[in-house]
Amino acid sequence: MKKITIFTFCLLIIIGAFSNISSANDKKVGIFYDERFLLHDTGPNHPENPERLIPVIRDLKNNDQITSNTVWPNFEVATAEELSLAHSKEYIELVDRQVSQLNNNRALLSTGDTPISKDSNLVAKLAVGAGLEAVDQIMAGNLSSAFALVRPPGHHASSSIGMGFCVYNNVAVVARYLQKEYGLERILIVDFDVHHGNGTQDIFYEDNSVFYFSVHQHPLFPGTGRPNEIGKGLGKGYTLNVELPKESGNNEVVKAFNLKLRPAMNKFRPEFVLVSAGFDAHLGDPLGQLNYTDEGYGVVAEILQDISQKYADGRTLYMLEGGYNADNVSQSVQKILNVLISTNIDN
Ligand SMILES: [Zn+2]
Repeated sequence: MKKITIFTFCLLIIIGAFSNISSANDKKVGIFYDERFLLHDTGPNHPENPERLIPVIRDLKNNDQITSNTVWPNFEVATAEELSLAHSKEYIELVDRQVSQLNNNRALLSTGDTPISKDSNLVAKLAVGAGLEAVDQIMAGNLSSAFALVRPPGHHASSSIGMGFCVYNNVAVVARYLQKEYGLERILIVDFDVHHGNGTQDIFYEDNSVFYFSVHQHPLFPGTGRPNEIGKGLGKGYTLNVELPKESGNNEVVKAFNLKLRPAMNKFRPEFVLVSAGFDAHLGDPLGQLNYTDEGYGVVAEILQDISQKYADGRTLYMLEGGYNADNVSQSVQKILNVLISTNIDN
C-alpha cells in the first residue's frame, strides 16, 4: 500500500513537471506588425521611411526559429479616448485637422519636425493600437512578451507636441492604459534609442508610478536627458538618465544597465517592462554614433529579461522607435526575439 502511494506520488510529480513544461511552451512571443505602417509617407530621402521596416519583416518571416515560436496577432487603431490617456484633447484634434487638410500633399506637423501625409493619422493611431493589443494579450496570459514593429516612432512626442518624427507617444499611452485597465502601480519604461525620449520623460516627470530610464548619446538631438533631470515633486527619483559620449560601444551601455538600472529596479520592482527600442545607436547608423552591435542589444535584452522575470512575471513589450539602417535593425530585432523566445523554452 505504502509502495503504491509513493509510486503514485512520484508519478504525479513527473506528470506535473511535464504539464508545467508544456504550459510554459504554450505561451508564445507576439510580433505586432501591419502592412499599413508602410503608408505613412515622409517624402523622398527622409530617414524615417517605409523601407526601414520591409527588410526587417522579410528576414523575420524567413527565420524558422522565429516563425515557429511567435504569433502575429491583428489589432485595431487606438481610439481618441485611448490617445487622451497621454495626450491633450487639443493636440489629438490638431493632428486630426492638420492631416485631414492635406489631400495628397505632405507637410510638417505644426508642432515640430514630424512629416505627415494623408494616411499618417491612421498609421499613428495604428502604432498605438499595436501596443494596446499587445499588452492586452500579455495581461491575459496569451503571450509571454511581444515586439511591436511600428511606425512612426513615439518617444519625442509629449502630451501636446509632436516632434522628432513622432506623432503619438506609443509607449506612454500604453503605460497609462496598463494603469487604467489593469490597475498596475509600477511600470518601467526603458529607452535605449540613441536619442533621449524627451516626450516620455516630460509626460511622466512628476509621476512615481512610471519609472523612465534612458541611455542616450550626448551631445545629440533633442538636447535633454541630462543626469540632473531626475523628476520633480512626487516623481523625483523616478527619472534616470545616462549620457554616453559617441563611440561608447557595447561595454558602456551594458555597464549602464547593470550598474544603474538593476539597483534602481531592485527598489522599484516594476510590474511591467515597456521598452522604447530604437536601433539608431547601432554601429553604422546614419543618425547616431554610439556603435553598439547586435550582440550588445542581445546582452541588454538578457538583462531586461532578468529584471522582468524577477518582478513582472516576464511581462515585457518592446516598441520600435528609431533605427535607420534596416539591416542593423533586422539583425538586432532577431537577437532580441531570440532572447524572448529562449526565456520561454528555458522555463
Ligand atoms: Zn532616435
